[in-house]
Amino acid sequence: MTKVPFITKEQIKEITKTYPTPFHIYDEKGIRENARAVREAFAWNPGFREYFAVKANTNPHLITILKEEGCGTDCASLTELMISDALDIRGDMVMFSSNETPAEEYRYANELGAIINLDDITHIPFLENIVGTLPETISCRYNPGGIIEMSNGIMDNPGDAKFGMTKEQMYEAFAILKSKGVKNFGIHAFIASNTITNEYYPVLAKQLFELAVDLQKKTDARVTFINLSGGVGVAYHPDEAGNNIYEIGAGVKKMYEEVLIPAGMGEVAIYTEMGRFMTGPYGGLITKAIHKKHIYKEYIGVDACAVDLIRPAMYKAYHHITVLGKETDAQNQKYDVVGGLCENNDKFAIDRMLPQIEIGDYLFIHDTGAHCYSLGYNYNGKLKSAELLLKDNGEVELIRRAETPRDYLATLDGFPVFEKFKF
Ligand SMILES: *Cc1c(COP(=O)(O)O)cnc(C)c1O
Repeated sequence: MTKVPFITKEQIKEITKTYPTPFHIYDEKGIRENARAVREAFAWNPGFREYFAVKANTNPHLITILKEEGCGTDCASLTELMISDALDIRGDMVMFSSNETPAEEYRYANELGAIINLDDITHIPFLENIVGTLPETISCRYNPGGIIEMSNGIMDNPGDAKFGMTKEQMYEAFAILKSKGVKNFGIHAFIASNTITNEYYPVLAKQLFELAVDLQKKTDARVTFINLSGGVGVAYHPDEAGNNIYEIGAGVKKMYEEVLIPAGMGEVAIYTEMGRFMTGPYGGLITKAIHKKHIYKEYIGVDACAVDLIRPAMYKAYHHITVLGKETDAQNQKYDVVGGLCENNDKFAIDRMLPQIEIGDYLFIHDTGAHCYSLGYNYNGKLKSAELLLKDNGEVELIRRAETPRDYLATLDGFPVFEKFKF
């Protein structure tokens, strides 16, 4: 299998006349079509809603596209809430799934009318202390502990994760919240990340549905929604099959019919908080080869670095690379494709078979639409790149300019030595 960029070399040559590399570019058409598929896959559940996990891509232009496609936002910090607020996404269109939450963030979330998803039982008195009367609708985050294993052998280890409450705490929390006047309850869990099996949501859903039935029975608390959170993965590697959202939706439906319907809980809404799946495949990092180096290995030095895309350095993540204009050339050269940080892990690819690369070639690094720009940092004083949007109508719009040294130094209020620079 191969991966095909959503943009051609000719288009990039045209774009770089206005916007120099490196930059991330996003594909509006792809984002919209995928969001519609998600909605369709869960259309059997009338209350279904996707709350886009803002941390995956904080660009307001992209969040606006998703809002137009019916999505809410899933926020976990003050600034994420501010972005949502600024886009007129408030009330129950906002899920606040935070942890170790500062008081002012709870206050703000409550002012926005966001659905608050409590990460811990001790947050009940903490929140009550801040907001006075608890909101009518509250969600609790569940951590089943142990190990989750799918039939393809993929495992994750919720028992080792800092998030959520134990099962016993869930019962206790529901009882306490009910005694304090909370009327509508949600259950949330996130137990595996970047899963590439259509089984993950159904397996999780079954656990949460069974818990919901029991919680409602034992505490008499009315469960109105179940939030499957994020974790649906994308196929970063061309040999991976990728997820089929229709199969995932059908798998969740089956569990719903097996567990919730017989318990008389057929009104429960299904929520998701996907980030990666919503935007990941619809972004690419465009970078130019600026050096070729031959020592013990062959290196291609590019003008982007881990500041623009840290996943390979941080998680040894694979991101596919297409050399634009050389899509059909033989992949007979072995390269390390590297950025300029003073860190030997600043490598977009290691021992990757690629076509012969010349200085000036444009590389399209795939699947940078989620957890890439937003995960970036400023090591070595390197500046974060621009973000562009390839619109539905084929036009290209700058949706975030590249950082300048002024941005990097902006927090050094009044430090006089910088005044001599003309930024
Ligand atoms: C990170 C996160 C998400 C989104 O995860 P993806 O893997 O990007 O889908 C959703 N909800 C919570 C609480 C998260 O922490």
